Amino acid sequence: MPYLIVSDIHGNIEALEATLADAEGRYSHIFCLGDLVGYGADPNPVVEWARSATAAIVRGNHDRACSGTDSLETFNLSARASAVWTRSALTSENRTFLERLPRGPLRVTGAESETGFDLAHGSPLDEDDYLMTPSDLQFLRPYLDTQLTFFGHTHVQGGFLLARNGVKRIHPWPVLQLEGDYMYMVNPGSVGQPRDGDPQAAYAIYSPEERTVEYRRVPYDVEQAAAKILEAGLPQGLAARLFEGV
Ligand code: ZN
Repeated sequence: MPYLIVSDIHGNIEALEATLADAEGRYSHIFCLGDLVGYGADPNPVVEWARSATAAIVRGNHDRACSGTDSLETFNLSARASAVWTRSALTSENRTFLERLPRGPLRVTGAESETGFDLAHGSPLDEDDYLMTPSDLQFLRPYLDTQLTFFGHTHVQGGFLLARNGVKRIHPWPVLQLEGDYMYMVNPGSVGQPRDGDPQAAYAIYSPEERTVEYRRVPYDVEQAAAKILEAGLPQGLAARLFEGV
């Protein structure tokens, strides 16, 4: 049975619910690449969902910042404002759950017939590094010990194929067929704050049996998610960007 791969939900319960409804009946386990909270107005419902629903999850930089594990020095003003707000909104149980999330990469070992795969937030070498362009992955191949790593953090659906002679961007056509000779860094995109120009929630379905990754987009109630951000007194830009997917 395939797996549901989600990342960067960022407190957006409307986007998460639309994603789960779209994927319903198509997966056996859920894996999450971090940033459950920050930016969005529903951190508690998203963390509560993660506590009960995910099979494995790695922490993101916003999970650290919003649980108070990290200082906010590297955050821009609106990210900082939302982290401060999220810290005060989180229940102590949910804050503790975020504090204890493991750092990526995390190995998921499959059944005997399957090879394992890795979960990371940013780069497998540094959870805070953004893998944006092929040159960011130029020296990564020797450090990968699984053929398939899922990562997030950039909020851009797609990822990269690592061949012996170089790195190529993967365009998120509906279905990616994994082939033996390559290593794959696959980004399912962001559920709750896409930044690749498409405002629809992004996620992926990975089938170990078929050796495929299916990239999915699903519309959700952006108006409601944006209205809640404004109601909470969070920066306006965090609401506006959801309509544009930037
Ligand atoms: Zn993020």
